[in-house]
Amino acid sequence: MSVLVTGGAGYIGSHTAVQLLGCGEDIIILDNFSNSSPEMLDGIRQISNKTFKFYEGDMRDGALLDRVFSENDIEAVIHFAGLKAVGESIQKPLEYYDNNINGTLCILETMKKHNCKIMIFSSSATVYGNDNPIPFTEDMKTSAINPYGWTKVFIEHILEGVCEADKDFSAVLLRYFNPIGAHKSGIIGEKPNGIPNNIMPYIMKVASGEYDHLNVFGNDYDTVDGTGVRDYIHVVDLADGHLAALAYARKHKGAETVNLGTGKGTSVLELVAAYEKASGKKVPYVFAPRRQGDIAACYADVSKAKKLLGWQAKYDIDDMCADNARWALKE
Ligand code: NAD
Ligand code: UDP
Repeated sequence: MSVLVTGGAGYIGSHTAVQLLGCGEDIIILDNFSNSSPEMLDGIRQISNKTFKFYEGDMRDGALLDRVFSENDIEAVIHFAGLKAVGESIQKPLEYYDNNINGTLCILETMKKHNCKIMIFSSSATVYGNDNPIPFTEDMKTSAINPYGWTKVFIEHILEGVCEADKDFSAVLLRYFNPIGAHKSGIIGEKPNGIPNNIMPYIMKVASGEYDHLNVFGNDYDTVDGTGVRDYIHVVDLADGHLAALAYARKHKGAETVNLGTGKGTSVLELVAAYEKASGKKVPYVFAPRRQGDIAACYADVSKAKKLLGWQAKYDIDDMCADNARWALKE
């Protein structure tokens, strides 16, 4: 039996593929390289010293999905594939709804046809919207402020509906907080196309000299130093959370939603200081106005992950920055 990893050439998918192979799982990757490259697959092979099947194509291609499921005995799908740039989703809402929601429906239809009944889904802390109190617990109401966020809210509802209709189906909806870091080998990590939206890829480009400074969006929040606070989580910890979710789903039916974070908040200035310490590089910054849609602080209540999945994050912010710097500054 195999585990299908959609979007497995991407940032989180590639780290999860390495961890799955390390545990002896047989995996198959499907990716259309819309936001990744074949190099990441070479990296997974190099780190794991294992082989796996790869299908290049779009998850909305029903004929391709049918072939993937016919040629393999797929027990579970870990579903990372999706578009994830918040700003772009506002410019191109139809593309986001089609790729993320329609893509997930195509996978679920094919799973139904081939009697595959486990899905681990990449949701996001973005579904907590901007008016829940911190720390966020899984039972809080969900909402969104952009099309990307709505795709996560809708897909969560779709998976709950699937589990309601089919009592043999297991879905674990993992709400990621802010993944950063890279594999400790320095072989795989985050490689965003174009100008990064997220802070860590931006810091990496400033530290390497590609950009001359970081814009810190807001220094008048009600936080430790006035800058935004987030729950950064090492991507390898996040990857391990998927293995724990898969183990859980193999034993339990129904839908469960679980936060994957550290439970600790770090401000922008604390992150910059940690990166400078870990990399030995300067990260010059200037204060800029608040970014529209940003909340002051966001971190997870991680008690459900610990109780239900027996999982908790192991790495701290210094580990995340050190591993990130090793990957980003290796040339
Ligand atoms: P990523 O862009 O690095 O990886 C996504 C992968 O999916 C890419 O390799 C891309 O080529 C592929 N893909 C996209 N559309 C596809 C399609 N139609 N068919 C086949 N492949 C397709 O992103 P990531 O950071 O690894 O994120 C993985 C998942 O986690 C996404 O669903 C994202 O929304 C979610 N997520 C990410 C973050 C984050 O900060 N990185 C936070 C919360 C949730
Ligand atoms: N941020 C920043 N400068 C940037 C990008 C982000 O100051 O160039 C801040 C942002 O305002 C937030 C934190 O860094 O407080 C994390 O932002 P990111 O976009 O990485 O994650 P998200 O806001 O989606 O949680």
